[in-house]
Amino acid sequence: RNFTVRGGTRQTDLDGQTQVGRFSGGEYMNAGPARIAQWMVTLDYCRELGIPIEVFTNTNASALIYHEGMGAPVRYRTAKADVYGYVSELLAKATDQGALDSSLTGDDKQRLLAFLEGWGDIGAQHRYTGSKRRGYSVDPGAFDQAGTPLPGPPSLSDVLASGVGRHFSFEFEYEQAMLMFQPVGGMDRIPAALVRAIGPGRVRTGCAVTGITNGDNGVSVTYTRGGREQRIDADYCIAAMPPHIAARIPHNLGADVRHALTTFDVHPVGKMGLEYRSRWWETDHRIYGGITETDLDLDHVWYPSHGYHGRRGTLIGYYNTDAHAVAYGQLTPAQREARAVAQGVRIHGDKYRTELASSFSVAWHRTPHIEGGWALPTTDNIPAYVLLNQPQGRVYFAGDWLTFLVTWQAGAFDSARRVVTELHSRVLKS
Ligand SMILES: Cc1cc2nc3c(=O)[nH]c(=O)nc-3n(C[C@H](O)[C@H](O)[C@H](O)COP(=O)(O)OP(=O)(O)OC[C@H]3O[C@@H](n4cnc5c(N)ncnc54)[C@H](O)[C@@H]3O)c2cc1C
Repeated sequence: RNFTVRGGTRQTDLDGQTQVGRFSGGEYMNAGPARIAQWMVTLDYCRELGIPIEVFTNTNASALIYHEGMGAPVRYRTAKADVYGYVSELLAKATDQGALDSSLTGDDKQRLLAFLEGWGDIGAQHRYTGSKRRGYSVDPGAFDQAGTPLPGPPSLSDVLASGVGRHFSFEFEYEQAMLMFQPVGGMDRIPAALVRAIGPGRVRTGCAVTGITNGDNGVSVTYTRGGREQRIDADYCIAAMPPHIAARIPHNLGADVRHALTTFDVHPVGKMGLEYRSRWWETDHRIYGGITETDLDLDHVWYPSHGYHGRRGTLIGYYNTDAHAVAYGQLTPAQREARAVAQGVRIHGDKYRTELASSFSVAWHRTPHIEGGWALPTTDNIPAYVLLNQPQGRVYFAGDWLTFLVTWQAGAFDSARRVVTELHSRVLKS
């Protein structure tokens, strides 16, 4: 799934639709993995393999939130100021009125109130009446230019009704918290460097496995390459394809394995790259990277975390899952572009359409040999998860779907390291 689309990238989906990337020189979209947390082993591979990295902006106070029914999008900074402000006011009120006396000592109350005054910018009166944190329509400047604050804040009731607060916890997640990183030039720098390190002669691509036979002394794998059926015999086999794909491959590993491979929860996922002739999100909206959240069927819109102040740039026009991904996946690439752009115009205005140069979209569930964005273990398939994490004769399975890090390359790496380590000690003992 590590798939970076550039000018000339060609992909034919399961519906027979072929797209050819028309991105201009240097422009690309990471159609699969795009961000790496600081603690992930993926960064260690980048260091060891000499892959330069740069910050991936996963949170930006200047990015937007747009929900159906909003007249205009609201910036994160404004939404946060209002939610934190009103929540602080409510908690301060409860504290001041003694509603929390059974839980707090007098000292606790003073400390909590001091925290809330700062957290919500509610002043000594413990009332939220707006804050400089919300932002300005005219920014502060020289001499008498104190800045023109944005109109507002809306009422507490309107802020709660807007639902903006539901997006705030994303950045608290262990996997999603800033800083995050990306390889300079595209995520596929990682597999390219891995192949260089292993030796290109040792990696054979374009081979579709058609059968796996486990024997007492070795494993036979049949595959087709360039239309020709071929066979490779080895001491051991590590099958690193998605479980729902492996489930369809003939093997002699038994009915339990066959069934176990079908028990993962496979999710439809879609992503679209939109290349623009200008970086209007920087010049007109002062958004330098980050993510706009929406309840439209786009789900998430990403601004590029590189190439700032360049001539052109490539947004992720949608990154959606489940029903939204299915809806876009059913369309032709041209129809997807039209639908995504119409939605994006509602958030960003006409330049979302008029500055567009080209697009490329990937429906992962309609992508050959992948057929899903990710495959999650479920609470019901724990026995299957345990079974497939054990060697089946001389055959091992590996992938992010066999870890607590599904949807992350770090999971794929960690699963591979576990299997290779086990195999190593097995061979040493044999
Ligand atoms: C939209 C999206 C966003 C993501 N975002 C991130 C992110 O931001 N950060 C991150 O770290 N990770 C992210 N991931 C997850 C990351 O892509 C995966 O964890 C990682 O690529 C898994 O690597 P893998 O080699 O185990 O499996 P895969 O990448 O699924 O590779 C499986 C391989 O098996 C091959 N295969 C299938 N059938 C056969 C067959 N019959 N014979 C031979 N080969 C076969 C497939 O062609 C494929 O190359 C994202 C994934 C998606 C789809």
